[in-house]
Amino acid sequence: MAVPQAPDILGLSGSSLLVTGGGTGIGRAVALAAARAGAEVTISGRRREVLNETARAAAESGLVLDVATADVCDSASVARVVTSVLDRRGRLDGVVNAAGIARFGPSEDLTDEEFSHVLDVNLVGAFRVSRAAGRAMLAAGHGSIVHIGSLTSLGGFAGRTAYTVSKHGVVGLTRTLAAEWGASGVRVNAVAPGFVRTPMTDLAIHRGVLDLDAIERRTPLGRRAEPVEMVGPVLFLLSDAASYVNGACLVADGGWTASVGPPSGFAAARGPAA
Ligand code: NAD
Repeated sequence: MAVPQAPDILGLSGSSLLVTGGGTGIGRAVALAAARAGAEVTISGRRREVLNETARAAAESGLVLDVATADVCDSASVARVVTSVLDRRGRLDGVVNAAGIARFGPSEDLTDEEFSHVLDVNLVGAFRVSRAAGRAMLAAGHGSIVHIGSLTSLGGFAGRTAYTVSKHGVVGLTRTLAAEWGASGVRVNAVAPGFVRTPMTDLAIHRGVLDLDAIERRTPLGRRAEPVEMVGPVLFLLSDAASYVNGACLVADGGWTASVGPPSGFAAARGPAA
């Protein structure tokens, strides 16, 4: 298995990290790269078999990933995971909140339950994890937390109301915790990925609720990101290389939000406008 490489400059060796949603997608790539960089990494998620499979894949490359199951909707299980990291590793230096779900559909059909559930996982879940980790970090006087936002942290996205609201909230959470905890040595930042080739988007494309061609045409880089392309942005913010970065939202979207022009191929003809 190809394990992504984290830049040496980050100095993550020996740090103790927790990655939620660490069994798949972006969380998995970040966890493997951090382990390769010498960090002691715990991956967390709901499904033990998925976490174990990722830990097995890491072991094949000579890397150790600790596994701890937790549902980010359950404060008690989140608290248990943080305690288990502290018991096993003696400290917690960094957290990546990559657990998340996506739901698609017209807003007029969205039920209260669906709306609440997406917020419960993506926003309140990130808060639960950051609160539990933050308590330990505040007591230690240092720590770094990275939330995973989205393109939808930055603007509206038709057919993704609950997801968009949750990801806007993640940026609000990031900024608020950064403002509150910065003076105590705890930094909180976010990464806003564009479309990444993970189980989340693969499933949506498979179900016909995301149009891959349209995404590729709308993205200036002309493609989805690979999960490994989120490793640099996430681990940079997590590390001391970003020691004066606090409350930031680092956009890693292939240029999507930079571009207000038409998607490629939309208006290729040359000539005077009128
Ligand atoms: P993914 O589905 O591979 O990862 C999400 C992980 O969260 C899974 O491992 C899942 O089991 C876990 N999870 C879901 N509900 C949970 C819960 N209640 N408790 C604990 N774990 C739970 O998809 P991904 O693309 O790697 O997503 C990671 C993060 O990146 C998510 O927050 C997602 O919203 C965000 N994101 C993804 C994209 C993309 O295009 N893939 C773009 C922007 C942001």
